[in-house]
Amino acid sequence: GRQFERPATTRILTVANQKGGVGKTTTTVNLAAGLAQGGLNVLVIDNDPQGNASTALGIDHRSGTPSVYDVLVEDADMASTVQVCPDIPNLWCVPATIDLSGAEIELVSLVSRETRLRRALDTYLAQRVERGEPRIDYVLVDCPPSLGLLTVNAFVTGREVLIPIQCEYYALEGLSQLLKTIQMIQAHLNPELHVSTILLTMFDGRTNLAQQVAAEVREHFGEQTLRTAIPRSVRVSEAPSHGQTVLTYDPNSTGALAYLEAANELSQRHADRDAAAHARDGGA
Ligand code: ADP
Ligand code: MG
Repeated sequence: GRQFERPATTRILTVANQKGGVGKTTTTVNLAAGLAQGGLNVLVIDNDPQGNASTALGIDHRSGTPSVYDVLVEDADMASTVQVCPDIPNLWCVPATIDLSGAEIELVSLVSRETRLRRALDTYLAQRVERGEPRIDYVLVDCPPSLGLLTVNAFVTGREVLIPIQCEYYALEGLSQLLKTIQMIQAHLNPELHVSTILLTMFDGRTNLAQQVAAEVREHFGEQTLRTAIPRSVRVSEAPSHGQTVLTYDPNSTGALAYLEAANELSQRHADRDAAAHARDGGA
């Protein structure tokens, strides 16, 4: 297959939107699969108690399975929770189990409650290097539809936020609250945090509404919005019940091709920026 450009350092993206059902999980797992098909090493952290990303990747996440809950609340080594995706050997996942549903409250009384995921991931990435294991190129963190401590932990962990926006009524409603939260985290906990990427999901180009929403998003967030929009496609919604991403479930479907192209674009945009920064810093 095609080889995508490896980023200079591990890119960590939090997939967030406090609205439910906008395509966060679908985007997390299918972009991850797309990046992995492009030859990159990808880690998905399922940070949502629903565990939908784990399901979609075919990862065991029955209650009691070592998971992100153990990392966040029990100080477990992340390495002890990582599973490899059965279909895609260079895609790994830290699963979420139902235990995570209590974590939002349990975290409140723990020290360093906002930085637990970051520390655990930093340690894990360093361990891999020490052990001579292949470097992780991309980490994608799937978040619950809320802006509580689980999402805050994700925002503290990575530099980049990816916001999926569903092309429907009220798409932009609530976005200002999300942006305010990001600003607050940036001011107090993670100065590098920024919205790097916006992805239009469930796009139906036949409707005026979808066209209008897409135009409005591109007007406000022209630089961040990927050119590729993800079409509404029944194959995308069927894939999780087979424990697969749409890229393996139906590789030639419009949804699979769109997610692969979005992954390509994501990797490419960063490569462009790396090159620009390199030139600016006086490199060749
Ligand atoms: P979130 O994680 O934001 O709650 P999901 O990714 O679970 O949202 O998506 C919500 C629902 O929409 C799911 O049933 C999913 O299968 C479906 N869905 C997401 N993207 C598409 C798409 N491109 N085409 C069709 N259905 C989709
Ligand atoms: Mg979800």
